[in-house]
Amino acid sequence: MADVALKGVQKSFGSTKVIHGVDLEIRDGEFVVFVGPSGCGKSTLLRLIAGLEGITAGELCIDCERVNDLPPAKRGIAMVFQSYALYPHMNVYDNMAFGLELAKASKAEIDRRVRETARLLQIDALLDRKPRQLSGGQRQRVAIGRAIVREPKVFLFDEPLSNLDAALRVQTRIEIAKLHSDMKATMIYVTHDQVEAMTLADRIVVLNAGRIEQVGTPLELYHHPANLFVARFIGSPQ
Ligand code: ADP
Ligand code: MG
Repeated sequence: MADVALKGVQKSFGSTKVIHGVDLEIRDGEFVVFVGPSGCGKSTLLRLIAGLEGITAGELCIDCERVNDLPPAKRGIAMVFQSYALYPHMNVYDNMAFGLELAKASKAEIDRRVRETARLLQIDALLDRKPRQLSGGQRQRVAIGRAIVREPKVFLFDEPLSNLDAALRVQTRIEIAKLHSDMKATMIYVTHDQVEAMTLADRIVVLNAGRIEQVGTPLELYHHPANLFVARFIGSPQ
């Protein structure tokens, strides 16, 4: 059963079409990675799935429900961006609690979930700190924690590691893989890093100029690229 299904999804900004009819079914619990050159529409696709932009044509379903007209807050989705976008005036605890407060969770429930998530991500010693008192890696963990705490059905990650140095990127990548196996959530993850794509993905979606070039497991794409574009993209370390 598809957890997230795109059927003939198109997106135009004004008269410019940037997504040209994308068909894709993502299974419950699957880890799908979108790759492709800058400007090919990766972020736009995530924003359409999240509901931050409306689709111009086609159909979008989450958990078998048509969500074309459903606002972001009702889609059961959490998004982690490359910039951490934490609330600077709030401490870590409040950053993580904020979304739950908006969702009208009880104080006890909020406290339980924030502390549980903080333990999972090993940021439980940082709950009183403000974002400016954290390292880049710690901030990114708080951003991930803020997504997890809402227990979404689907996680969307837009190049979440691109602001981190190499060592931290590897460590956080391993943590995201662990998170996926622990939470059994569906994850859609954008990166332009081939190593990230190859190590994290159940399936990789290769995009080019608003269209899907190929979908397959990392090994399928590596051994049987559908065309030169995919071969170049998967083969070339960037
Ligand atoms: P990627 O994330 O793959 O680098 P994007 O999804 O950000 O690509 O962008 C895809 C295309 O859509 C680009 O040509 C970009 O300029 C255009 N685009 C994205 N958002 C907007 C917007 N709000 N208004 C107009 N054009 C946009
Ligand atoms: Mg992008």
